[in-house]
Amino acid sequence: MSEDIKLIVNGKRIDGRAFDELRNIRIEAGVLKNADGSCYLEMGRNKIMAAVYGPRKVQPRHLADPVKAIVRYRYNMAPFSVEERKRPGPDRRSVEISKVSREALESIIMTELFPRSSIDIFVEVLQADAGSRTACLNAASVALVDAGIPMRGIITSVAVAKVDGHIVLDPVKEEDNFGEADIPFAFFIRNGKIESIALLQMDGKLTKNELIEAVKLAKKGVMEIYKLQREAIMKKYIVEDVE
Ligand code: ADP
Repeated sequence: MSEDIKLIVNGKRIDGRAFDELRNIRIEAGVLKNADGSCYLEMGRNKIMAAVYGPRKVQPRHLADPVKAIVRYRYNMAPFSVEERKRPGPDRRSVEISKVSREALESIIMTELFPRSSIDIFVEVLQADAGSRTACLNAASVALVDAGIPMRGIITSVAVAKVDGHIVLDPVKEEDNFGEADIPFAFFIRNGKIESIALLQMDGKLTKNELIEAVKLAKKGVMEIYKLQREAIMKKYIVEDVE
């Protein structure tokens, strides 16, 4: 299927980027009045809104855990987020993405501080263009910080793809569709350093060396995104020095 479409021309990708270059990213923290924390994020053509509520009393009550907070994460694609109108409501894909994303975030939230509570994360994909789960995780992390949820660090996420035999950072839709492999990553970053991988999914085929290269490239990408996440948070909370 990829025979007809050339994804790499003269060492550049379909949108003109270098192999190790991220799409343009824009992050704004605290954009919603009625949520405890929120974030609007663009990653290329992905447009994401994340909202966080909590810690708050669990509803329904029988889900409450006496020793820690429960974390819920809902990834939802708006019907107008993709070219062909998406049927509204959950599907297998969004249930799976919600599950793995929740697990990544749960590992860094200090849930033990809030027994019988819930921390609810809603992520709406307003426009999707591949890597939407990674963009959502980046937005959710900023929204969690904005909500003041105690965390051990932050989750930062990016995908890597294999395209025409090359390992490339942060693929767009055409690269995702017609490339040989797509690998979303999320890393746990603490004190400005990558501590561990919190999410790794892969479809397609890679050699051991290609996988090592993919991890290296993803690490480079997340450190750049982490900087932007920090800047967005600082921008909201920094108080200018009074002269
Ligand atoms: P991710 O967005 O995390 O890369 P996928 O690899 O499953 O997740 O999807 C890649 C892209 O395919 C999405 O970003 C979106 O642009 C498109 N897509 C996903 N699901 C649908 C759908 N139900 N209808 C139309 N396009 C979709």
